[in-house]
Amino acid sequence: MTAPPQRTAPPPSLSYELYPPRSAASADTLLRTIEELEPTRPDHVSVTYSGDEARRAGSLALLDHLIARTTLRPLAHLTCVGSTRAELEDTVAALVRRGVRGVLALRGDLPEDPGTDRGELRYAGELVELVRDVERRHSAALAAGRLAVGVAAYPTRHPESPSFRHDVEVLLAKQRSGADFAITQVYFRPQRYERLVAAARAAGVTIPIVPGIMPVTDPRRLQTLCRLAGLAPHPGLAAALEDASGPAERHRAGVAFAARLARAALDAGAPGLHLYTFNEHRAALDLLERVDLPRVPHEPVPLDDLLLPA
Ligand code: FAD
Repeated sequence: MTAPPQRTAPPPSLSYELYPPRSAASADTLLRTIEELEPTRPDHVSVTYSGDEARRAGSLALLDHLIARTTLRPLAHLTCVGSTRAELEDTVAALVRRGVRGVLALRGDLPEDPGTDRGELRYAGELVELVRDVERRHSAALAAGRLAVGVAAYPTRHPESPSFRHDVEVLLAKQRSGADFAITQVYFRPQRYERLVAAARAAGVTIPIVPGIMPVTDPRRLQTLCRLAGLAPHPGLAAALEDASGPAERHRAGVAFAARLARAALDAGAPGLHLYTFNEHRAALDLLERVDLPRVPHEPVPLDDLLLPA
C-alpha cells in the first residue's frame, strides 16, 4: 500500500500596497517602483482608494496600468463612506469590467465634520455583502469564479472601537458577510499580531489574517502614520529614527525594525506578508532580503486564471 501524498503548506504569500501618484514626479517614482517590485512576483498588489473624484480616478488609472502593462494582479481597495449603495454597485461592476478580480472592502475614515453625509452603508461588512451581491449579478463576466474579497483587521484596537474584543467580533462578522481574507493595520509589537490571530481563531475566524508590515524610515512619516491610524509611535523605533546620523542609517534602522516584525509573524505562522511601500521599492526589497521569504518561482499568471474557484 502506498502512503497518501503529504500535503505541504503553501509558501507564504507576498503583496504590496501602492497608492495613486499625486504629481508627475511621483508618477515616475511609482513606475520605477512597479518595475522593481514586479520581479519579486507578488501574489497581488493592492491599490488604495480615498479622497475626491480626481484621486479616485487616479486609483482606477493605476489599476488599469497594472492590468494592461504588467504581470501583477491588482487588489482594488474600495471604501463605502460617503457613497450611496447605487454608486458602490456601479463602482464594483466597473472594477469587474476592467478585469479586477480582488477587492479590499473598507469603510474608510469618517469625515471630520459630523454634518458631512456618511453614505448609505454604515460598516465595511455591509460593503462585503454588496460586493458579493454584484458578483452574483456579474456571474457571466466572472465565468465560474468568485471575486477575492479582503477586509481590514486590527492588532491594536481601532480608534472608534470600544475594545479589542469588539474588533475581533467585527472581524468575525466580516467573515460571515463573505470576506475571504484579512490584512492587518500597521502594528509595532509582534505580540499584537499573535494576540489578534489567537483571539480571532478562538472566536471562530478561519480566514487568513495577513500581517501588514510597514518599513518606516523617516521620523516624520512615523508621526503622520500614527496620527492617521490612531496608534502610539513605538518609542524604540521613534528614537532610532530620530537619533540616526543620516538617511542611510535611518533606512537601516527602519528596515531592520520592520524585518524583525515580519520574521516574528512568519515564525508565528502568518500566511504571508503585506508590505506597505509608500510607493518606494528600496525599503520593501531590503526587508524581503532580510526576511528571506521563500518564493516559489512561477510564470506570470494570465488574467483568466486569477479567478478563485467558486
Ligand atoms: P469597519 O470594519 O466598518 O469598522 C469601523 C468601525 O466600526 C470600527 O470601530 C468597528 O469596531 C466598528 N464596526 C464595524 N462593524 C460593526 C458592526 N457590525 N457593529 C458595530 N460596530 C461595528 N482607508 C481609506 O480611506 N482608503 C484605503 O485604501 C484604505 N486602505 C486600508 C487598508 C488596510 C489594510 C487597513 C487596515 C486600513 C485601510 N484604510 C483605508 C483605513 C480604514 O478605512 C480605516 O481604518 C477605517 O477607520 C475603518 O475601516 P474598516 O474597513 O475597518 O471599517
